[in-house]
Amino acid sequence: MKITPVLTSIIIGCGSMTAAQITDPDSKFGSFPSYSGEDLELSVDSNGTHWRMWSPEAEAVQLIIYPSGRGSAAEQIIDMTPSTDGTWIASTPAQLYGKFYTFRVKHSGRWLAETPGVWAKAVGVNGNRAAVIDFSATDPDGWANDKGPALKHINDAVIYEMHHRDFSVDPSSGIANKGKFLALTEHGTTNPEGDPTGIDHLKDLGITHVHILPSYDYNSVDETNLPANTYNWGYDPLNYNTPEGSYSTNPSDPTTRIKEMKEMIKSLHDNGIGVIMDVVYNHTADNDDSNFSLTAPGYYYRHRPDGTYSDASGCGNETASDRQQMRDFIINSVKYWAKEYHIDGFRFDLMAIHDIETMNQVAAALKEINPDIFVYGEGWTAGDSPLPVERRALKENVSKMPQIAVFSDDIRDAVKGHYTDASDRGFATGKPGLEETVKIGIVGATAHPQVDYSKGNNSKFAYAASPSQIINYVSCHDDLMLTDKLRKSMPDATEADRQRAARLAQTIIFTSQGTPFMFTGEEIFRDKKGVHNSYNSPDSINAIDWNLRHSNAGQFEYYKELIALRKAHPAFRMTTAEDVARHLKFDKTEPGLISYSLTDHANGDEWKEIKVIFNGSDEPREVKVKKRDWTVIAEDGNIKASGLGTSRGGKLTVAPRSALILAAEK
Ligand code: CA
Repeated sequence: MKITPVLTSIIIGCGSMTAAQITDPDSKFGSFPSYSGEDLELSVDSNGTHWRMWSPEAEAVQLIIYPSGRGSAAEQIIDMTPSTDGTWIASTPAQLYGKFYTFRVKHSGRWLAETPGVWAKAVGVNGNRAAVIDFSATDPDGWANDKGPALKHINDAVIYEMHHRDFSVDPSSGIANKGKFLALTEHGTTNPEGDPTGIDHLKDLGITHVHILPSYDYNSVDETNLPANTYNWGYDPLNYNTPEGSYSTNPSDPTTRIKEMKEMIKSLHDNGIGVIMDVVYNHTADNDDSNFSLTAPGYYYRHRPDGTYSDASGCGNETASDRQQMRDFIINSVKYWAKEYHIDGFRFDLMAIHDIETMNQVAAALKEINPDIFVYGEGWTAGDSPLPVERRALKENVSKMPQIAVFSDDIRDAVKGHYTDASDRGFATGKPGLEETVKIGIVGATAHPQVDYSKGNNSKFAYAASPSQIINYVSCHDDLMLTDKLRKSMPDATEADRQRAARLAQTIIFTSQGTPFMFTGEEIFRDKKGVHNSYNSPDSINAIDWNLRHSNAGQFEYYKELIALRKAHPAFRMTTAEDVARHLKFDKTEPGLISYSLTDHANGDEWKEIKVIFNGSDEPREVKVKKRDWTVIAEDGNIKASGLGTSRGGKLTVAPRSALILAAEK
């Protein structure tokens, strides 16, 4: 099936092997039956409790029933019966609400360790046993009528990436449920100075969607020992279809985490904020001991010719979305989150490990549930994969995925400096030569007559068919966050200068075509003490110090006005490549400057023309602007969506490291 160059070299290098001995360890999986009914693995109805577990190669499967989520002896062991499409079934006449269960699979003559399966929708503490619960008891009041904000277009979203623990755990948050889902249900919380924190802060800022770091059940935080205050981002998936226990007030009760996550979502929805989930189907925390491996050994992963796990995730394994049961698992899992939890969007980690066909099916299935749901992801892998490049859901292949968006590493690295070199500067911190790459971001990586893609740093062609396929950002949980990047790349500058650079960087993002995305706390210039990979760093690194909401109030006001500007003006949110090519016109400028106009009431904007000029250098620069009556929207590190003042145009000065934005109504 896959004759890769690596395999060829093995044939050459191992003279004693014959062609017959060289087999693709994954080739057999193509002939496996698949089963994707909603009764996988548990269903409860008036006739009792029913299990159906998919394990085509199993020699025997047992179902083990327990009275509790950990420690207790088994109450019952039931031999499951082979059924259709590689599944094994068992039933009890009683509705076993309150009970826990695991499966045990006999494979190649030996019994594997117990597993809660891959479809556990409720689990006990640390996710070791699945639970039978009554889901009607998990819905908050009013859940039936709950829904996220209506979104005409993905480009109308303003995405705010956050981690439950970062956001609320610091004493300065004034939040009672620190590090919990419920933190986002608390109103009226303040820092010691009386400034709003938590959800009130988010409303004040004006973002439309929170993007929550992994909130499914992950592996690394010991839910039986929460006082240890262990921290993790959560990119170590354990149970994909139930919430993480450490974010609940009682991880031992399977119902609590579900109910509290729904309460969080409802609270955000009630305040007009959508919820995007970060999903990590591309790898699991464990290899041979993962729930995938303990139910159907080998099937869910890709392997190298020598049988070892291939590792495009850089985390020890990679899943195989190109296999039917894995593809269906991903599709049905996101559908489940969308229906049961009313999730408004999905961010796919290392999306290019998945194949294009799977991602297109994911988007189509979600749009059928709710056309406002949107999907975006990292259009890259962390290592090589057996999946051919042309089948990968790569950034470069996004035009083949019309309903999917990808992160623009082009604008990210060009604006603030390259992510691999802490001291490297970008356009917003005065490095010349990056103007063309920034422009790729400004036009949302669409084809534009004035953008020369051959000069792009990360991409050499217009990969997006539409600006709706681009997420623009300068910073996220990965790599140095903006504050730390500015401190390391501008070591001799003042904090005020760095804050100016941050304002310029985010102004470029929020005025660009595509969808803007920001990292939690940047609006108050928080830092992570220079730690770039803080996935398991303590709260002292990751927690937001809410006192900064007071000491950096000016920064917050700038971000708030910037978001208000974008939301009020559709010219920054054009929906087609044709509109961008027609209505966005760049001016000729010297290095260090970028200048463009949004013309002729672009995308139905009330403003006839908007002039946007960025000066990334540390010198004031003179520009010539058409003589007419302008309203000054941004100037010298200040911004106001309703206008700072007026200008007659002509020869104007753009202050160092700042944006000049002018608007003409007619
Ligand atoms: Ca967990």
